[in-house]
Amino acid sequence: MSCADESDEHWSYDNPSTWPDHFPAAGGSCQSPINVVSSETVPQQYPPFVFSPDYMGLTLLTLTNNGHQVAATLKKDAESKTQPDLWITGGGLMDTFHFVNFHLHWGRGDRHGSEHEIDGNMFPAEAHVVHKNNKTGETAVLGFLFDITNSPDEENAQWKVYSTAASTLINIGDTVDCTINMSQLLNIEDKQFFRYIGSLTTPPCTEGVIWTIFMDNIPILEQDLNLLRTNIMRKVYRPVQPINDRVIYKNQVN
Ligand SMILES: [Zn+2]
Repeated sequence: MSCADESDEHWSYDNPSTWPDHFPAAGGSCQSPINVVSSETVPQQYPPFVFSPDYMGLTLLTLTNNGHQVAATLKKDAESKTQPDLWITGGGLMDTFHFVNFHLHWGRGDRHGSEHEIDGNMFPAEAHVVHKNNKTGETAVLGFLFDITNSPDEENAQWKVYSTAASTLINIGDTVDCTINMSQLLNIEDKQFFRYIGSLTTPPCTEGVIWTIFMDNIPILEQDLNLLRTNIMRKVYRPVQPINDRVIYKNQVN
């Protein structure tokens, strides 16, 4: 994941192993993404996630090609100066975390593209919804893995909206506005998830990020990922990093 206000210095997905040369945190011991080995996770009871009421309605977003990915941020409405109030709490988060951006990671083909792996399995894409605690500065990211579906009826329509709009952003700095129902985008409901402490997955790869990786994959059509691969970037993911001595928790659904 990345935040839109993070480093603009040059780096590329062609050589992630060199990131620590310029971004020391990237060589740390608590980096993301990781391969989650489900048999080694520790069961934990977390309260349900709570999404703010504005998560349930339509949200006007600006998509930006920042040279590394296409980030969706809240559209700044100059006239009304009102913005939807998107925040989350619960789910083991100690406080309220406010929406910063969401973006998608993908690969050249359907066998790669996710950043996190589950039991060594990669997925064709992974979405990150970045939230920040405005009091502590802590970052919490919700991660969603994708599966390819061949049936347009099964596809999550909100991701079609995203990929169609994002695929028009040919050049770095290009922006486009689009309206998305965030609750449908994320298919918000009580889902099982993994929890661990890691890092931003883009430079500067700052650690201390609270990660939530949901286990119910989101269906997307291959042709929508192809729109992104063809028009924007071919490969947008960091390989998995060592877990070291970190504990990965798995929520227990009663
Ligand atoms: Zn990300």
